Amino acid sequence: MDWRSANVHILTHALHYASSVFEGERAYNGQIFLSRKHSERLHYSAGQLDFEIPYSVDEIEAAKAAVLEANGFTDAYVRAVAWRGAGPDMGVASQRNPVRLAIAAWEWGSYYGDAKMKGAKLDIAKWKRPSPETAPSHAKAAGLYMICTMAKHAAEAKGCGDALMFDYRGYVAEATGANIFFVKDGEVHTPKPDCFLNGLTRQTVVGMLEERQVKVHERHIMPEELEGFEQCWLTGTAAEVTPVGQIGDYNFEVGALTREIAEGYETLVRR
Ligand code: PMP
Repeated sequence: MDWRSANVHILTHALHYASSVFEGERAYNGQIFLSRKHSERLHYSAGQLDFEIPYSVDEIEAAKAAVLEANGFTDAYVRAVAWRGAGPDMGVASQRNPVRLAIAAWEWGSYYGDAKMKGAKLDIAKWKRPSPETAPSHAKAAGLYMICTMAKHAAEAKGCGDALMFDYRGYVAEATGANIFFVKDGEVHTPKPDCFLNGLTRQTVVGMLEERQVKVHERHIMPEELEGFEQCWLTGTAAEVTPVGQIGDYNFEVGALTREIAEGYETLVRR
């Protein structure tokens, strides 16, 4: 439908109480990379928020393809979103309100703009990723992005492209919309995703590293360790593989392994 017709009611439950889950996907050469996994994660996220999407994964797959086709897109960002709509319930509970689903697509180039291959500059966020006992950490739920938006605004005000967030225990966690990897002595270290999204790009990159026989340590990383890492990159559907040049006062080189993984990812998604 036309942009102007794609409306929601102001008493949409999700708008007031964040009862919303979404996906960020990218199509390359007409195919959405890991499309089905994204639709499955959307269903999973909805389940975490105690609602069921009234469309099957197959129906969502078909709708995404139709949206790309109707827009004439071959390379585009695809946003699927599902939420509790307006209905009889306008308090915290919303069991009687209908669950809605929408799919949008638009052309979106490099997430970090020109900085991409030069290395992004990251601020250190004051907001911490919450405990899995405080929020549904593994759901791609809109409510979890409130702290991400605030952290990213603070970073941009300081001239940074993104922010690195620590978790509720003080360990290094992730950026505001992407996972993080570090390189030291030819081996890779990445935070264990026990209180944030284990991104599909993250899982893909771990697989690429294993194929290349690069040792990957998924573990808790202390902020003090940042000083000792040589290379760093971010992974995410929108971010793809983006080298990081700086986090706070620490500098990283855009090294050979970073380049190899960034280029390897580009090849893989277009295969
Ligand atoms: N963490 C957060 C907070 C994100 O928003 C994203 C993007 N979906 C990721 C990690 C990376 O996930 P994926 O690789 O599945 O896009």
